[in-house]
Amino acid sequence: MVGGGLAGSEAAWQLARAGIPVMLHEMRPGRGTEAHQTDRLAELVCSNSFRSDDAMNNAVGLLHEEMRRCGSLILAAADAHKLPAGGALAVDRDGFAEEVTRRLAAEPLIRLERGEVAGLPPAEWGSTILATGPLTSPPLAEAIRGLTGEDSLAFFDAIAPIVHRESIDFTRAWFQSRYDKKGPGGDQGLGGDGADYINCALDAAQYEAFIDALLSGDKTEFKEWEASTPYFDGCLPIEVMAARGRETLRFGPMKPVGLTDPNTGRRSHAVVQLRQDNALGTLFNIVGFQTKLKYAEQVRIFRMIPGLEQAEFARLGGLHRNTFLNSPRVLDPRLRLKAEPRLSFAGQITGVEGYVESAGIGLLAGRFLAAERLGRDLPPPPPTTALGALLAHITGGADDRHFQPMNINFGLFPPLAEMPGGRKGRQTRKPALAARALADLGIWLEGWRQAA
Ligand SMILES: Cc1cc2nc3c(=O)[nH]c(=O)nc-3n(C[C@H](O)[C@H](O)[C@H](O)COP(=O)(O)OP(=O)(O)OC[C@H]3O[C@@H](n4cnc5c(N)ncnc54)[C@H](O)[C@@H]3O)c2cc1C
Repeated sequence: MVGGGLAGSEAAWQLARAGIPVMLHEMRPGRGTEAHQTDRLAELVCSNSFRSDDAMNNAVGLLHEEMRRCGSLILAAADAHKLPAGGALAVDRDGFAEEVTRRLAAEPLIRLERGEVAGLPPAEWGSTILATGPLTSPPLAEAIRGLTGEDSLAFFDAIAPIVHRESIDFTRAWFQSRYDKKGPGGDQGLGGDGADYINCALDAAQYEAFIDALLSGDKTEFKEWEASTPYFDGCLPIEVMAARGRETLRFGPMKPVGLTDPNTGRRSHAVVQLRQDNALGTLFNIVGFQTKLKYAEQVRIFRMIPGLEQAEFARLGGLHRNTFLNSPRVLDPRLRLKAEPRLSFAGQITGVEGYVESAGIGLLAGRFLAAERLGRDLPPPPPTTALGALLAHITGGADDRHFQPMNINFGLFPPLAEMPGGRKGRQTRKPALAARALADLGIWLEGWRQAA
């Protein structure tokens, strides 16, 4: 194991529980990162929240519950150091990280080695999981990049907001590709006839009001160590583009050319386009809308777009320093690097986003490697589970041409055979998806027990 963060700690624990000896390499405290402050394993670098703990109504709460049922160390330590936080699982960060560190140190099958792994793990280490996180040390990151190719390991993310398709108002929005050009999906696009994009038109007054909102909206600041990067020249936040001139967006991501609004039969003043974000066709991202606006501001401002008034966001936009792989392209369904299967990856570096998601992918990487070492076959968890949906997204469901980090959300789950419709249906749908997930996880876990 390389990296003793959220994912590496969980993966090491899962391996040891399965009886596999582990050498865990962690570079701190000898070498630090820009965000970590201590030498503890599983340090929380920012917030102390694991977000909602509501398993039946919230996808991250469901992921908590699935991880508990899989014997997760991270969830056990979080539960043991829980603080009062309403429906959220917030933890005492020191107690939490101390507990993870203590339990891993007490595990006889795990040996902790402090020191940076400054290049690819040597072949004699055998199968190795790399869980070095969003701030992977530069020599290792460069070595991984050498293996995956330059365009398969990014050093920053540029996340555009992602909308649940079912929350878009199609009396105003319409499917069409610019100039009706067929994409790689050919006639198979969700809109039929090669119409791959969802379009939302703005008239001149709506456009001006939208620009005003972008310019005055509250933004988050870059951290000092994030600010001086050439990256942002190529991928500007939408509000920065708007600040360069009121017409800039109309000649950029909001250009109306090649599109006809079926409601007016004409070209619009400006158009916002949404592109399919997962193979299931349940999620769409707002093209070119990476942003540093605060989350509440994003919801308020993006709901000004005609057709998105009731939009529900699977994730909001952001830009961060973040080392991550183009996993749908380079990893197999068990998180192994296709080009060199002795190396597998876990945590945020696989293109998931968040403490819980990182630990969840660590849990799977640990179990897959344990199965391999024991000479057993462990199929990936079903995509109807939170663990399986997240894994399926990063290892295939996401479009590798535009891959950006993803957090767990119900849009990643295959729809129910009978989806309750409408606003009311939306409320009963989540518990139904969660119940199906927990039942299917039980079957997956049982299969593993029987094979043991
Ligand atoms: C500044 C910042 C703030 C964040 N805030 C939040 C938040 O509030 N909430 C949230 O849910 N998510 C947050 N995230 C995202 C993400 O959830 C966390 O980064 C999470 O810690 C990722 O888990 P991980 O195990 O993949 O990586 P990490 O927890 O970062 O663990 C990686 C470990 O690998 C070690 N390492 C790196 N390179 C090497 C090497 N070459 N050799 C040996 N060891 C190495 C590091 O020291 C580290 O201990 C944040 C990310 C960043 C960068």
